[in-house]
Amino acid sequence: MTEKQYGGQTGRSSGEKVNKTSDNNLKQITTNKVSSKFSQQGRADGIASREEETKSSKFSYQDKILLAGQIASKVKEYAKKIIKKNMLLSEIAENIESKIQELGGKPAFPVNTSINELAAHYTPSHNDSSIAHGLLKVDLGVHIDGWIADTAISIDLENSEENKKLIQASKDALENAIELVSKKIEKKEILTTGEIGKKIQETIESKGFLPIINLSGHQIEKYNLHAGLTIPNIDNKSTEIISPGLYAIEPFVTNGNGKIRDGKPSGIYMLTNPKTPRTPIAREVLEYIGEKYQALPFCSRWLVKKFGMKTTFALKQLEENGNLHQFPQLIESSNSKVAQAEHTILITNGKVSVTT
Ligand code: MN
Ligand code: MN
Repeated sequence: MTEKQYGGQTGRSSGEKVNKTSDNNLKQITTNKVSSKFSQQGRADGIASREEETKSSKFSYQDKILLAGQIASKVKEYAKKIIKKNMLLSEIAENIESKIQELGGKPAFPVNTSINELAAHYTPSHNDSSIAHGLLKVDLGVHIDGWIADTAISIDLENSEENKKLIQASKDALENAIELVSKKIEKKEILTTGEIGKKIQETIESKGFLPIINLSGHQIEKYNLHAGLTIPNIDNKSTEIISPGLYAIEPFVTNGNGKIRDGKPSGIYMLTNPKTPRTPIAREVLEYIGEKYQALPFCSRWLVKKFGMKTTFALKQLEENGNLHQFPQLIESSNSKVAQAEHTILITNGKVSVTT
């Protein structure tokens, strides 16, 4: 998934506390505030949950980050192999999500299958009859105990030269951005988010296309997909400094005007407030969401499997009660095609690993 930037905002206040430079901070920023807030298991605070994790598991959080990445990488190869033109998008999403679980992970968010001018946040509904065609972006996430890998590929299903060029530009921009990050981090030089955006923008513009200016990469924390810093796809002059942590870099490339607008509701939701709703079914669904997804995105398609046709009513109530945020589909504002490439990278002191 991608982060949408509002009104030229380049970061969030929550990013300030992570803007330090020691390896210890990676451990600090991974304090699980979200899971403690929504957990049904009564964890007192993030520190308790972190201690619990180190005691109860033989895997460190870094192991989990890398394992989630390996699974995401394998699933991406699987997706490339199975996806054919005219296949149902629901079949693609379900197959990918099953594969994630078969390999020992959990989906960190519903598989996004966004076509052509739809830049992001399209996931099939439970009765979706849409088929794969055009320029298809597959954005998938894997988590192990809340440690996330977020990655995306674009596929040309039309044998179109323009599609292929857009896709290549997104891959080149991602590659150049990661190369810049690796070089600077390994030399222990200061690296700002603005410099990464500049590299992405220059690469894309050198191919004759435009980056999407109001979509961006993001920092990742435990059970928190869009946390802390924003990684822009343009030179926004941000001087926020990249410190050790987990980040998704995701250039979006278009032959249109380089901006997205909100489209229809996507059926992708996120828990934002656990306050008690009025009806029993809404309470039951909310409890399930809190336990199963915590603050990670989920979709109505998943809930229909568990609650059947009561799902729509419950989700509507939870949205009205202010428990959930529903993401809108994101559409290129001139209805032009969009390609995306995305990797998750782990930065420790002096070292960068592409986890996906
Ligand atoms: Mn992302
Ligand atoms: Mn993504």
